[in-house]
Amino acid sequence: MLISGWGRHTRIDADTARPATATAVRALLAARDGALLARGMCRSYGDASLAPRILDMTALDRLIAFDADSGLFECDAGLRLAELLDFCVPRGWWLPVLPGTGAVTVGGAIAADVHGKNHHHVGGFGTAVDALDLVLADGSRLRVSRDAHADLFQATLGGMGLTGVIVAARLRLVPLASPWLEQRVLPAANLDETLALLARHADASYSVAWVDLSRRGAHRARALIMLGEHADTRTSPAPHRRPLTLPVDLPTGVINRATVRAFNALYHWRGAGAATPRTVHYSQYFFPLDALGGWNRLYGRRGFVQHQCVLPFECAPRALAEMIGTLTTGSVPAPLAVLKALGPANDHPLSFPMAGLTFAVDLPMTADTQALCARLDDLVADHGGRLYLAKDASMSALNFRRGYPRWEAFQAVRERYGALTRFASLQSRRLGL
Ligand SMILES: Cc1cc2nc3c(=O)[nH]c(=O)nc-3n(C[C@H](O)[C@H](O)[C@H](O)COP(=O)(O)OP(=O)(O)OC[C@H]3O[C@@H](n4cnc5c(N)ncnc54)[C@H](O)[C@@H]3O)c2cc1C
Repeated sequence: MLISGWGRHTRIDADTARPATATAVRALLAARDGALLARGMCRSYGDASLAPRILDMTALDRLIAFDADSGLFECDAGLRLAELLDFCVPRGWWLPVLPGTGAVTVGGAIAADVHGKNHHHVGGFGTAVDALDLVLADGSRLRVSRDAHADLFQATLGGMGLTGVIVAARLRLVPLASPWLEQRVLPAANLDETLALLARHADASYSVAWVDLSRRGAHRARALIMLGEHADTRTSPAPHRRPLTLPVDLPTGVINRATVRAFNALYHWRGAGAATPRTVHYSQYFFPLDALGGWNRLYGRRGFVQHQCVLPFECAPRALAEMIGTLTTGSVPAPLAVLKALGPANDHPLSFPMAGLTFAVDLPMTADTQALCARLDDLVADHGGRLYLAKDASMSALNFRRGYPRWEAFQAVRERYGALTRFASLQSRRLGL
């Protein structure tokens, strides 16, 4: 079966099994030697979910148990976050950490320790994980938590599937008054203003800046800052708008400097015009890109990459100015860029967040994209930052070690549980794991 990540630039032919139960996962591991990798909805952009032998976990998608008094929620690892929310929001419960799409599995969210627009307040996905069930290299099943096999628990959160196969998880939900969000949009004229507004509104529950990289001069990196607060209105949610789906690849080259400038002009004009606060459904605030299913086909058959880094607060203004200078003067158009704050790092050795600003930019795959990414990678490492493994497609092993200095502790845990040669991805091989 031909598989790729969300960026669709690397495709490989993989031997894929799709087990429907944890017992079937155990049997598969017990019966087969050699390396393999679990995979969810393939929403990681690069090669983190690619391997010659794949366990597709999306058939393991049951809700196992829910305690309506404590908010403890137990499910299979292949359940998608959008389905989890469909179940818990009407019952007055909420998942406190959400990435920018609901189309990821619980297992994928744990493996990448995903972060949301509130990381600086609540931390990463791991903060909501009470315990998880792993199938280890030898096919045995183990429940791990902060109290039981804590080393394996810590390494699995953010461990990109390299410690074992997550088959189930127990999550801690939080109470929710309403499915609605009060959204405020603040326009910023340039990078300095964007950084100042993000800092001034750091106490907002959720914040993110959509940055326009199609401009040069005084309006370079102008932005729309989207702030969100949970509303307390009890009005019933409007029915979900059915997402549209892009059925075919657009021709390569449709995303170019002219179309990117036109798209950003329209987006900025519409956003800046909506300055008065609006009440929006949570899916509209948290998952705006899910409104167009298969939007990754906009980039055509050559696909695209997303370059996402985090930069410590003290270096961020200078480093961002340098990165944005490189991006706005180079030959590769950058249609979509996002900036948000992250809180302190945690105990998970490969977890991405650390105190600073995270900057993510989509880049179509052209003849110059790899070289551009390599330049940006070095710049990030030189400023003491790191790249997000869930987005990465080309980081060098050297820059990985510079950005993730606890990688040896991670390897030691893998060795202890027999995972070193058993679980591998194209990414882990490239990074020397
Ligand atoms: C539009 C969009 C917006 C996004 N926004 C954000 C964001 O705001 N914040 C953020 O942090 N991320 C974001 N992401 C990235 C996404 O949340 C992560 O890549 C996530 O890991 C994808 O989950 P998945 O189920 O698709 O896993 P996959 O992409 O299939 O796999 C990702 C990794 O998880 C491992 N894995 C998956 N399932 C299991 C399992 N059961 N057991 C062990 N390992 C497993 C895989 O081996 C792989 O290493 C976004 C992605 C998209 C497409």
